[in-house]
Amino acid sequence: MTPPPRPGWPRGGLRGRLALAVAGTGLLAILLDALFLGVTLHQNALDQQGAFMTRQAAALGRCCRFGRSVLLTSRVSIIDQTLRVALAGTPGRRALIIAADGGLRYASPLPAALEQTLLTRLRGDLSASALPAHWDVLAGHIIAEAPIAVTPPRRSAPALPAGALLLAEDEAAATRSWERIVTLVVFSGLTAVALAALAGVLTVAALTRPVRALTAAAHAVASGDYAVRVPPAGTDDLGALAAAFNTMVAEVTHQRRVERDLLANVSHELATPLGVIGGYAENLTEGVIAGDVDRQAAIEAIGREAQRLSRLTGALLDLALLETGQVRVLPEPVPLGELLAGVSARFASAAEHGGITLAVDAADAPTIVTDGLRLEQALINLVANALRHTLPGGTVVLSAHPAHDAARLVVSDTGTGIPPEDLPHIWARFYRVDKGRNRSSDGAGVGLGLALCRGTITLLRGRITADSTLGVGSTFTIDLPLRLASPRLA
Ligand code: ADP
Repeated sequence: MTPPPRPGWPRGGLRGRLALAVAGTGLLAILLDALFLGVTLHQNALDQQGAFMTRQAAALGRCCRFGRSVLLTSRVSIIDQTLRVALAGTPGRRALIIAADGGLRYASPLPAALEQTLLTRLRGDLSASALPAHWDVLAGHIIAEAPIAVTPPRRSAPALPAGALLLAEDEAAATRSWERIVTLVVFSGLTAVALAALAGVLTVAALTRPVRALTAAAHAVASGDYAVRVPPAGTDDLGALAAAFNTMVAEVTHQRRVERDLLANVSHELATPLGVIGGYAENLTEGVIAGDVDRQAAIEAIGREAQRLSRLTGALLDLALLETGQVRVLPEPVPLGELLAGVSARFASAAEHGGITLAVDAADAPTIVTDGLRLEQALINLVANALRHTLPGGTVVLSAHPAHDAARLVVSDTGTGIPPEDLPHIWARFYRVDKGRNRSSDGAGVGLGLALCRGTITLLRGRITADSTLGVGSTFTIDLPLRLASPRLA
């Protein structure tokens, strides 16, 4: 027997696989989410930053205008201070201002090469027919430009640009914002992964608990503990599985008890006649039984017990064949009236001897297609029982009638009846109502007759039931199909 699996999270085990699946799915979802979130947040930050710089450039452009021109030369220190204050919170941001003639009026400290690049662009924009007043991204730098327009002398004249202001931001500022977002997203992602893993572990543990309980119970049953049961696990699939397992164990336990009882019964029933035979044989051998008459009686007793043994083993074999489906049926037309008359005739002298009226009521009995010999054997069992349990003066009636699309046969008696608490069990093997009765002396069976009857009628695709009232009598009813299907191995 394989040992029960050790508790834990073995690789390839259900729990391990479930945990991996949950953690893997969670991780993938979180990574995708983090990526999407990071890109969206970064783009959003860039948009906001660009919009802010555009507004800032426009405001600063207005500040740098003085009357009709960009008079920065004489007021450069004021402009310088203004720009310093305006850009103080954003160390990576720089400003460039040029007049309408392209002359540089102001420049924040910038690397020379970059300053040239930005100036070229700013001059190009200023000389373009439509001056861009929006921000743009140029070679990784965020740039905001704003014209410094002069109010025209005449109302009709278009506003002429007096110069332009360009705000540029160091690439590192954008990178820093991206890094902040990535850090935030990764941190929140890791927290989410940890939470998802914890939730996954708890969920998997909760999901697999009933399965583990089932596994442990199955191992307990395999090692012989049939008292074990799985606690009910709700109404879902696992609950149904637990209930099915418990039902299965109960059924196996019942079957084992039945088999154990059967073995005990068979041993007991074999032991009694064997004991009698052995005793007589020993006494005969040792000459304890003297005299021809006694010896003859002993030999007859041995013969009776041998017959009894033979009947018992025959009945057991029949039952085993019936229960394992190894009996072939031979359907033939069977006139039920004739069948009942035959059975009745067989018991006529016994009935007369017992002072019992044996009657047949089969005026409208149909002819059905069934295995006549097997049906006759079942009826013989029922009639023998009925006569055995009916007192002199009583009646036993055999009847057969059509009943819808079936035939109904009834064996009823006015005998002792069967106690209600025994009635459900009379079909079980070796079940006897009066357990104390001496079976050998009165010729009664060992409690196999009705088990054989039920097995036979089931084989013939019929149904047999019993009704009884203590002190009034018993009725055994058989319903059979009018036509038994072609020969089959039951
Ligand atoms: P047996 O072969 O010992 O008679 P059966 O299986 O035929 O065993 O019957 C089981 C039990 O049912 C018997 O112990 C008997 O007491 C009871 N029984 C069967 N038929 C009748 C009947 N017609 N009236 C009263 N009891 C009956």
